[in-house]
Amino acid sequence: MNTLTELLSAGDVVVLSGAGMSTESGIPDYRGPSGSLNRHTPMTYQTFVGDPAARRRYWARSHVGWRMMTEATPNDGHRAVAHLQRRGLLAGIVTQNVDGLHQAGGARAVIELHGSLRHVVCLSCGDSTSREELDHRLRQANPRFTAGATTVNPDGDVGLREEEVDGFQVVGCRACDGGMLKPGVVFFGETVPAERVRQCYALVERAGLLLVLGSSLTVMSGRRFVVHAAKLGIPVGIVNQGPTRGDAYATLTVDAPLGTVLPELIRLTDTRT
Ligand SMILES: [Zn+2]
Repeated sequence: MNTLTELLSAGDVVVLSGAGMSTESGIPDYRGPSGSLNRHTPMTYQTFVGDPAARRRYWARSHVGWRMMTEATPNDGHRAVAHLQRRGLLAGIVTQNVDGLHQAGGARAVIELHGSLRHVVCLSCGDSTSREELDHRLRQANPRFTAGATTVNPDGDVGLREEEVDGFQVVGCRACDGGMLKPGVVFFGETVPAERVRQCYALVERAGLLLVLGSSLTVMSGRRFVVHAAKLGIPVGIVNQGPTRGDAYATLTVDAPLGTVLPELIRLTDTRT
């Protein structure tokens, strides 16, 4: 903790956060201690655009998931990151999460690497609309849909039985009269927009510390920034429950829950600076 406090106090920290950041807000991680990958296969871009039945099932599940996502509230970890930003110690926040909880916790200028569930895009005309609007339209199109769930996945998806999603009506884009709508998130099998990636690399290159919070760095989409920082000799700190695929590049690792570590880190940093 001492080295981490020292590096943090020096400022210019770039935060890279993952699903572990939101587990204490009731959104279970895919791969963490209570990982959901065993019971949930995330939607891939290819399946979503290529299979109308899979798309209908996705929207039914996501319709339930969205309501649960809007009920999730930021935790001490999110608030700690926002606090560090207000103290002027952060150069940027990059998150792999699509739940918007960093912003709800008071953080600004968050780069959402994998997009956000708050937006919906049309794959035909590119029109972008709010999820609230789509939620309203889906409710109107499915007045008798009553399915519910107890657990939501980090991508806003929930598990429903086949008979629960039967007959769910999907709606199309209004702007171009029927274009295929997709949540504004990067699905598995899809690439992150190049400009967003470039922006993240630029942040990392100027960083005094790359601080990974709650990510097992399993996918290259996040891990590449860790590899890049290490190559440039920029210190990498990783706070995560369990080992990560970036540990070999890390200057230091802390294996503990974020809700415990971050408030303590703030106390130490506040005393020091
Ligand atoms: Zn459209």
